[in-house]
Amino acid sequence: MYVRFWGTRGSLPTPGRHTLRFGGNTSCVEVRTADTLVIIDCGSGLHNLGRALVHSGESAVKGHILITHTHWDHIQGIPFFAPFFRPGNEWDIYAPKGLGQSLHDTLAGQMQYAYFPVRLDQMGAKIRYHELVEGDFHVGDVKVRTQYLNHTALTLGYRLEADGAVLVYSTDHEPFSRHLASGKGPIHGQDRRHCEFLVGADLVIHDAQYTLSEYADKVGWGHSTVDYAVAMCREAKTARVALTHHDPARTDDAIEEILGGIRSEEANAAAKLDIFAAAEGKSLELQLTEGAIASEVPPISSMPALATPVILMAVKDPIAAGTIRGAAREDGIAMLEAGRADEALSTATTPQPSLVILEWGPETADLLTHEDVVARDIPLVVVSDEEHLSAKAVSDWLIKPFSSAYARTRIRACLLRTTCRWERALTSQNEEQRLASLHGLSILDTPPEERFDRITRLAASIFNTPMASITLVDRDRQWFKSSYGLDAVESSRETSFCSHAVAAQDVLVVSDAFQDPRFSDNPLVTGSPRIRFYAGCPIFVGPDCVGTVCVLDNRPRQIDDNSVSLLHDLAALAELELRKPQGSKE
Ligand SMILES: [Zn+2]
Ligand SMILES: [Zn+2]
Repeated sequence: MYVRFWGTRGSLPTPGRHTLRFGGNTSCVEVRTADTLVIIDCGSGLHNLGRALVHSGESAVKGHILITHTHWDHIQGIPFFAPFFRPGNEWDIYAPKGLGQSLHDTLAGQMQYAYFPVRLDQMGAKIRYHELVEGDFHVGDVKVRTQYLNHTALTLGYRLEADGAVLVYSTDHEPFSRHLASGKGPIHGQDRRHCEFLVGADLVIHDAQYTLSEYADKVGWGHSTVDYAVAMCREAKTARVALTHHDPARTDDAIEEILGGIRSEEANAAAKLDIFAAAEGKSLELQLTEGAIASEVPPISSMPALATPVILMAVKDPIAAGTIRGAAREDGIAMLEAGRADEALSTATTPQPSLVILEWGPETADLLTHEDVVARDIPLVVVSDEEHLSAKAVSDWLIKPFSSAYARTRIRACLLRTTCRWERALTSQNEEQRLASLHGLSILDTPPEERFDRITRLAASIFNTPMASITLVDRDRQWFKSSYGLDAVESSRETSFCSHAVAAQDVLVVSDAFQDPRFSDNPLVTGSPRIRFYAGCPIFVGPDCVGTVCVLDNRPRQIDDNSVSLLHDLAALAELELRKPQGSKE
């Protein structure tokens, strides 16, 4: 595996005589294996890489681009990447699945007419867009694993395995636990998981924007200290670490000085970690080393990393079908086609389409008034000469003739609506009595109490989750008597996970919210606090279920029966405390 740095600077390109040795261009790394070209991040360093590819004389350049996130210093090279302007070239771009806006639209945003003369879709090369969540996938002969980093934007780290070598690219990223900025102290929870992501790598390219003293003023800015980067790599027993995302204010001499300091500390360490600063133009060849222990990497969910919406179409009119195909292609949406309307509406279709597009006709008209189809509530767009009010199952109409731009707008609106759905929990039949029991406790809106906080602390510790709470489900809200790792005091009942456990009066375990249609588009899943795993056990007062003790995580997890019984124990402890009068000690 061949690796070359084209951009190593964080935040802003900084050309000048003080950045000659380590480089002034923003993030960009080239990776080549036996038959695959991968580019990681598209900062301003991408410009020179593009020129080199064009000058290499390859007639059609094909490659894969992995983008950590769409902050400017990671995408600003795209409009200047010459291979994108060559017809015949083919590129696949991968980036984290964002919220609301597609990857294509985010990238097109920086190329709007006010900023740049050529639009993204006019560049000539064939570009495909892929939106990622956590998981594994392959590009050519490279196995790629993604894992979320801790940054101010949704950001993925990439672990690449090929030719027996392992490369991890991990920027922009801040320690989850601030005390680890010093690189000292025990590594727990999310930082432990980050460490596992690096395990046994031949090279880790890691965010190291700040020194420890600078970090004090930059907490929450989403970047690592040099000390943290080195500590993680040492713990993960990696062979080498390249410190990158150099602060724009950092001169070459300052980088040398920092390196000198950290290397002299390293001299006392038992195992040798090769520490260097990523430098523009530097390249290295990674081979399977003794230290590489890729097989020890813990497996993560088998969930596919590609989360692209799929449209299923059964339209015979060649002009309409062609326009729709073009519109889907422009938005990077995958398209499947069925011969007939009833095939398109079949429940057996895999993958399940996000949207079905049909053409109006006698047989479709019949289908669309059919109770089963109406009840299934599939997002349906129908191509027709006019609207037909009797067709209740139809979500939207495409009235002929229509332009590609119009089709895009309708399709997007429809997909957006369907991707903003989640299931609100049912209210129980004896809801008024349940609320009377809850209000009878006189506990809502009381201050935090140690006797409850002790239980949530225990829960988070036992389950090793970053969040836990004792939640009471009120008429329109859920209120946290105690919470661990959560900022909110209460949230809407609309989106409450605990309400589902209360309604079912039973333990609720959601191993992976992304895979559960009740929760996959819940704002607490797609946005902060990004719940992926939930386990909650009901708390009863008499016959009435008033709330839960629950644990939450940002990553998918499985729990066994033993853990479920521990959760029951914790709920029983919470029940005992709830029955005691306010302010009681033990
Ligand atoms: Zn950055
Ligand atoms: Zn960033």
